[in-house]
Amino acid sequence: MIPRSNQSLRLLILGGTADANRLAAAVAAEPRIAAVLSLAGRTEAPKLPPIPSRVGGFGGVAGLVDYLRAERIDRVVDATHPFAAQMSRNAVDACAAAGVPLLALERVPWTAQSGDRWTEVDDLPAAAGALGDAPRRVFLGIGRQNLDLFAAQQHHFYLVRLVDPPRGPLPLPNVEVIIARGPFDRASDRALLAAHRIEIVVAKNAGGEAAVAKIEAARDLGLPVVMVRRPAIPPRRTVGSVAEVMHWLAHDSTPTDRGV
Ligand code: NAP
Repeated sequence: MIPRSNQSLRLLILGGTADANRLAAAVAAEPRIAAVLSLAGRTEAPKLPPIPSRVGGFGGVAGLVDYLRAERIDRVVDATHPFAAQMSRNAVDACAAAGVPLLALERVPWTAQSGDRWTEVDDLPAAAGALGDAPRRVFLGIGRQNLDLFAAQQHHFYLVRLVDPPRGPLPLPNVEVIIARGPFDRASDRALLAAHRIEIVVAKNAGGEAAVAKIEAARDLGLPVVMVRRPAIPPRRTVGSVAEVMHWLAHDSTPTDRGV
C-alpha cells in the first residue's frame, strides 16, 4: 500500500530487477513521490529497496487496471526484466485502459563484439535445438523457468546457475546446480566455465552489467554462445537510465505522455 497524500505523485514500479531497485532507491529520496515496488514473487528472499512493496500477480490486464484505479496510481514505470514480456504487455494494455502514463526503463541489449562466437535465436526452444546432436557441456544462464525446454536434449551435461535452491528435482538428468546471486564478475565466471569444462553457453540477451560476465568469460575462453533475442513488446515510451525516469517523473506530467 502506498501512504495516502494529496501532494504526492503516486508511482507503481514494476520490478524484479536491479534497475528497479536502483530506481526505487532514487524515488525513496524524493518526498513528493509515493512509490510502491511490485514483485512477481519468484525469488524467495528478494533484495528490497527502502520503499513499500507488494508481491504477486495482479490478475492479468483487468487486475492491473483495478489496482491502478484502487490505488489511484498516477504513473507506472515498467522496470521488469526484458524477458518478462507478459507483464510488460499487460502494463501497456492496462495503462492505456486506465489512462495512466507508462514509461519503460529498459537496458540496451548486448551486441556481439570482436571475439564473440554467437548464434542468435528467437526463443528458448530454438536455443535448445541449437545445441546439436553431439553431447556437449552446456552452461545454462537462463534462470529457473523454462529449464524443461532442455529436457528433450538429454545427451548434454548442463551447469545451471540459480538464485534459490530448487525445491524439487530439475527436469534435466545430467545437471549440476550452482546457487549464486549476481552481479557476477568476469574472472570468476571464466574460472567457473573452465573448471566445469564448459563447451557452450546459453544466455538470454538481458543487457546491462549484472549478467554480462558470462558473455565476457565465453569470449575470453573462445566459447560459442547461443544468444536468445528479446521477446517483442508493443511500442511504449522507453528510457535507458534511472536519471531519465526521474526527469520524466519531475517534468513530463501532461496527458500527451500517454502512449509511445
Ligand atoms: P512474465 O512472464 O512477464 O509475467 C508472468 C506473470 O507474472 C504476469 O502476467 C504477472 O501476473 C506476474 N508478474 C510478472 N512480473 C510481475 C511484477 N513485477 N509484479 C507483479 N506481478 C508480476 O514474467 P517472468 O518472466 O515470469 O518474470 C517474473 C519477474 O521476474 C519479473 O518481475 C521480472 O522482472 C523478474 N525477472 C525475470 C527474468 C526473466 O528472465 N524472465 C529475469 C530476472 C528477473 P498477472 O498477470 O497475474 O499480473
